Amino acid sequence: MYTPLDTLMDLFQKSRSLVVITGAGVSTKAGIPDFRSQTGVYAQEGVNENLFHIEHFRQSPEAFYKVFGPLYQVIRSAQPTYTHRFLKRMEELGRLKTIITQNIDGLHHKAGSSNVIEIHGHLRQWDCLSCRNSYGLEPWIEETVSRGEVPTCSGCQGVLKPHVVFFGEYVMGLEKAMQAVQTADLVMVLGSSLVVYPVAGLPGYRDENAYFVILNKEPTPLDDEADVVIHGDVDEILQRLGFL
Ligand code: NAD
Repeated sequence: MYTPLDTLMDLFQKSRSLVVITGAGVSTKAGIPDFRSQTGVYAQEGVNENLFHIEHFRQSPEAFYKVFGPLYQVIRSAQPTYTHRFLKRMEELGRLKTIITQNIDGLHHKAGSSNVIEIHGHLRQWDCLSCRNSYGLEPWIEETVSRGEVPTCSGCQGVLKPHVVFFGEYVMGLEKAMQAVQTADLVMVLGSSLVVYPVAGLPGYRDENAYFVILNKEPTPLDDEADVVIHGDVDEILQRLGFL
């Protein structure tokens, strides 16, 4: 019998222009919790979407950094998973054109992928909310944030914000991401609940002849639109394709 995995393999073999959209689920095996699973960040007492809203951050950066500190320690030492390494290999082979990621953990970079659109930003830059000065990844910032404390600008003492997109802010590189999706012959979503917009709307820009695949542990609102949906661990599914 022909299984969804067989169909996935076929689509994969045929594809010459793969674009992948990744979410927090590709990094859970690296020890970084996602937001919405039972063991996710929102499962912690007193933590909800509000904490990641820009207005809340401006009013109470202390509350944000207290929760973010321990998470940051995990992200700092996390290593790429099978999925990150798989995608890097696909890029090397010329099959994968672009990775669009919602993740801020930088693991696609750590794995060596080069064409990555980090639509929610990253942690390699820190911006002063007062004087707009920016800092790279400096040890004193890493240490302050790891302790759960607020890093401040050495020039004006303003609050430093990680170069990531909070709720209530514009995403980065959306135009480029839309163009990438439009040119793909296969669009794959890996490890995303597909409830955060505008990323959840990106698969809708695919060409009418392009195929659409979702690999995620849990059902998503776009499952009905996809040509192949497999609910399971993304590392295990990709391992079964046997490319690495
Ligand atoms: P999400 O938490 O909403 O959804 C993650 C999805 O991944 C869930 O549906 C879950 O079932 C699935 N999942 C978890 N582990 C999996 C695995 N091993 N294999 C397959 N699926 C798995 O996350 P999201 O959709 O990426 O978006 C939420 C927002 O959270 C984004 O804005 C993102 O910036 C942010 N976020 C990022 C990180 C990170 O950088 N690693 C971590 C947490 C949240």
